[in-house]
Amino acid sequence: MEEKRNNDEFEYTVDQFADLQVLRYRVPGFENLTLRQKILVYYLSQAALEGRDILFDQNGKYNLRIRRLLEVIYIDYPGNRDTDEFRAFEVYLKRIWFSNGIYHHYACDKLVPGFSEGYLKSLVISVGTDRLPLKQGETLEEMCGKLFPVIFDSSVMPKRVNQADGEDLVVTSAANYYEGVTQREAENFYAALKLQGGDRPVMYGMNSRLVKSGSEIKEEVWKEGGMYGAAIKKIIGWLEKAETVAENDSLRKVIRLLVEFYRTGDLKIFDEYSIEWLKETGSQVDFVNGFIESYGDPLGMKASWESIVNFKDQEATRRTAIISANAQWFEDHSPVDSRFKKEEVKGVSAKVITAAMLGGDLYPSTAIGINLPNSNWIRSVHGSKSVTIGNLIDAYNKAAHGNGFREEFVYGEEEKLRLEKYADLTDCLHTDLHECVGHGSGKLLPGVDPDALKAYGSTIEEARADLFGLYYLPDNRLVELGLTPDGEAYKAEYYSYMMNGLMTQLVRIEPGCNVEEAHMRNRQLIARWVLENGSSDKVVELVKREGKTYVRINDYSRLRRLFGELLAEIQRIKSEGDFEAARRLVERYGVKVDAELHQEVLVRYKALHLAPYKGFVNPVYTAVTDNDGNITDVAVDYTEGYAEQMLRYSRDYSNLW
Ligand code: ZN
Repeated sequence: MEEKRNNDEFEYTVDQFADLQVLRYRVPGFENLTLRQKILVYYLSQAALEGRDILFDQNGKYNLRIRRLLEVIYIDYPGNRDTDEFRAFEVYLKRIWFSNGIYHHYACDKLVPGFSEGYLKSLVISVGTDRLPLKQGETLEEMCGKLFPVIFDSSVMPKRVNQADGEDLVVTSAANYYEGVTQREAENFYAALKLQGGDRPVMYGMNSRLVKSGSEIKEEVWKEGGMYGAAIKKIIGWLEKAETVAENDSLRKVIRLLVEFYRTGDLKIFDEYSIEWLKETGSQVDFVNGFIESYGDPLGMKASWESIVNFKDQEATRRTAIISANAQWFEDHSPVDSRFKKEEVKGVSAKVITAAMLGGDLYPSTAIGINLPNSNWIRSVHGSKSVTIGNLIDAYNKAAHGNGFREEFVYGEEEKLRLEKYADLTDCLHTDLHECVGHGSGKLLPGVDPDALKAYGSTIEEARADLFGLYYLPDNRLVELGLTPDGEAYKAEYYSYMMNGLMTQLVRIEPGCNVEEAHMRNRQLIARWVLENGSSDKVVELVKREGKTYVRINDYSRLRRLFGELLAEIQRIKSEGDFEAARRLVERYGVKVDAELHQEVLVRYKALHLAPYKGFVNPVYTAVTDNDGNITDVAVDYTEGYAEQMLRYSRDYSNLW
């Protein structure tokens, strides 16, 4: 894409603390939208912010109270702020904002405060009791007695999502999706529902909390008038305004169905909504708002609330349109057993979008690509809508330029030059292939339960999509299609993928911990599997030089063949619902960390003073109105700070209490 604007003035980094870096993103092209489109973005952006509290509560039932308590102190504390303890307090609060709760957004472990219980107590006492988030009739002492163990005691609710093989994943996970039920009870509850589902089952359980009271197990549904009803009501209010300025009938229908779903909680309506949303490709502005991804539930059913508002990036969409137009060719030529291939790959719509607002589980930490809906039957009958988020990828790249990372970890000059030359392009291209054709490829054999892989399902699915992309990157077809400039480019992505999967992604893991998150498990699974299976011919090696470990790739074309072999096996596992094989693969290659290598990588990384995780603050949109209250323009501002934005959101969108 041609970049006419001079970006030098734009400050991409906003804040840095703990293991986090907060960036800012631009919204290029917003000024070229019509007034009506700008207003639509504005209304949808408001709806994207109203659900923030839902996610906090989903991530742990004490999160909202703890956040409120700390925010009151942060605003009101009259004492000395220029101390190590207060600075540690501030970092803790900033981390909670970033994680939407007290658990690390990625590792899921409880955040460890860098100050003492006694210090927090002194802060609590220093502010007015009337400002504290006390429950009816509760004293300050009682509140502290309730919340402090949750904050400080490492044995109380230690993990948001526990995936440890063999434990009761529901009981041992602190996420607020189940209350009083065991894993077995929850699985039985939903197994019984699924029996009634037929071949087009709704996503049972995705919009509710499962609760046992007495001997009865029932769902508390997230809808207007139900659980989270106050926030949902606000969301509906903005969606109804958005409907009045929607660009076409099809988008209006999408919005109406979403509102109806929020009103009723009826999952059949959610499926209808998903299909309409999927088919709606004519509108310049698009959005997601709802209960979408299930990574936060150890059983992979309950969906966390998220939102993104975006509009098309016309130029960059050309690239994914080419991939999409060739989807059938990719399906036909993949190394997968023909029994698991789709005869007809349908509806892989592909576009590059510009994010205008991020909310819920997409904020501040966000995805760079989206592929929805998640319903298996809708995907197989209607396909899926797939996007990469151009302006966020651009912000990551710009913020990372020249930070010393490659100099430290990449093996030699040849690899570095190749990364310099191709990596921005091939990284995007791999994401495009992953999203546009990877997830959409393949099929389940008849009768296979889409959730058969249970806790391993997400990892296997991500591995499948990654491998599909990796397998095709070197293909001459990509050169013919003008997607890669030459037959060398793919090596940049192969190198950075292997380096990341074998080594550098470990910077995101605490010493002594295992790999937990599905995408990270998938990357390590792939990288370790090819390392081991190509070891007799040294296709890929870990080599030592002056005490430092490096990844060296000796045979790129053999590496491609290994990716193909693993893709075939992973697709077989998915298609047949082979739980045992999924478990073995993920546990053997994806989970365990080489402690010595981990330690080395952490030390080398630490010396670079970089933050392993990144997230974004949103721009601020202000509606400019005339004397009659009509919106005459929507202004965008990029100057809001991190704490400033979080406090404003907590003040203006505090819907659950
Ligand atoms: Zn994916």
